Amino acid sequence: MAQVTCPDCTAAAKKPYWGAYSAFCRGCEVRALASGQDFWRSVAAREKTPGYLAALATIFGPEEKAQAAGHELVKAEYQRRKRLIREKQT
Ligand SMILES: [Zn+2]
Repeated sequence: MAQVTCPDCTAAAKKPYWGAYSAFCRGCEVRALASGQDFWRSVAAREKTPGYLAALATIFGPEEKAQAAGHELVKAEYQRRKRLIREKQT
């Protein structure tokens, strides 16, 4: 799970459709990426698209290891949000 580091992340922890992000917050960057087009395109294509790879590099830096770790955070956030949406519906 992404680290909770700012008021927007705290709010988003309970509200799956929270649409505010703080600048320079890693949790917000992960959240934005997990709900963004580049990630969704990668999910649909079942591989990391060039756009998603570029976004990972922008946020997590040029190292492949750091990008892989970042991708795990994004996937965890995606799953967390999906779970939260499901809980709200029942
Ligand atoms: Zn945040």
